[in-house]
Amino acid sequence: MVYEHHLVSVEDYEPYIGAAAVERILRKAAKLRDLHVVHVNSTYYGGGVAELLSSLTLLFNSVGIKTGWRVIQGSEDFFSITKKFHNALQGAEINLTERKKQIYEEVIFENSVRNHLDHDVVVVHDPQPLPLIRHYRRRGPWIWRCHVDLSAPHRETWDYLAAFVKEYDAAIFSLPEYARRITTPQRFFLPAINPFSIKNAPLKESEVAERLAHYGIPTDLPLVVQISRFDRWKDPEGVIRAFRLARREIDCTLVLLGNVATDDPEGKAVYESLLDCQEERIIILSHQDTALVNALQSRAAVVVQKSLREGFGLTVTEAMWKGTPVIGGNVGGIRRQIEDGVNGFLVSTVEETAARLVQLLKDRKLRDEMGARARESVRGTFLLTRLMEEYLDLFAGFRPHFRLARNDLAASRLAPETTGSRGNQ
Ligand code: UDP
Repeated sequence: MVYEHHLVSVEDYEPYIGAAAVERILRKAAKLRDLHVVHVNSTYYGGGVAELLSSLTLLFNSVGIKTGWRVIQGSEDFFSITKKFHNALQGAEINLTERKKQIYEEVIFENSVRNHLDHDVVVVHDPQPLPLIRHYRRRGPWIWRCHVDLSAPHRETWDYLAAFVKEYDAAIFSLPEYARRITTPQRFFLPAINPFSIKNAPLKESEVAERLAHYGIPTDLPLVVQISRFDRWKDPEGVIRAFRLARREIDCTLVLLGNVATDDPEGKAVYESLLDCQEERIIILSHQDTALVNALQSRAAVVVQKSLREGFGLTVTEAMWKGTPVIGGNVGGIRRQIEDGVNGFLVSTVEETAARLVQLLKDRKLRDEMGARARESVRGTFLLTRLMEEYLDLFAGFRPHFRLARNDLAASRLAPETTGSRGNQ
């Protein structure tokens, strides 16, 4: 069988965003045609950054902006250190030793030797590859895109990492609440989803049923689902406790589906710690199956994302897009997606989660209404074309410098024309 390949284009989004927005985006993209951009992160799968990059890089190529994606490599101790940095940026304690800093910086130096980055724009994601900037002669702007919840970072860790951030020409965070006191111009881009991906495109009922049956997931009772990397910040234990409380009042089945990203060495231990909680109605799965994610988000009566910290939370967007009501932790990016009581519920405790579960599970009409509003809010704000346009505007702000860079005149410090402005949201 020969498969036809179709690259999703901006025009494909027209039914969702309208012809005027499509035209506007294409016009902006045409002005940057042939620009050579690269994104660098630390895992090719598992987690929101990889999810975003896999679709965003293709969409940029579809408009003639040559956009690549590189993934840094590292030993297990490197990723265990960077996971500690990640946790510390979200407020956890860390023993920030010289040895940790040395391993971190050394592995990044080695990656810089292997990766030849002479692009017009380099976008570096999250703390893992952050020090790369020290090792290149810049041909154009370097941008640091941080996806974590930076509202209350561990001070010493932030101070250490900020020394690298200051060398960048711009920093992008998900929310204005994550703004830092640095001289680097800061922008705020909310993440977004690709509605045409295997994860988000509509599935037939039979396809949903087939995926669920494949994993032995019973569908006789309403499904409560949380899908997340196995990570303490996602509070899987809290979800199980809330589910147990809710079940005293209403019968249902809980499915926790998770995966472990290659840059997250803590995931396996979190997964194993949950296994004792398994029973007939508490199903804990660790599989990398995108269609299963789609099937669960589509079929669930309620999706839960009870995070304790959350930079953004693409899993919330994905479920809302499927018209499924979401009960989300009242933190970070989840707060930007769920309007409490309107298109979902925000919760802060196990008890509150249980009460909202019972309320939604008992009320089909409420679920349908909230779900419909949830889908509509994703259509209006969280589709990939909105994010693409924000990047296009940012790149356009650097434009005079691309010419300089091409003429090889300057690797000097470059700043966007609209320095300090707060992006459009
Ligand atoms: N994901 C997945 N399979 C899983 C768990 C998560 O494909 O078992 C995906 C999920 O659908 C989403 C991403 O991983 O696209 C998680 O992104 P999010 O922003 O919610 O959280 P992060 O992992 O980046 O903290």
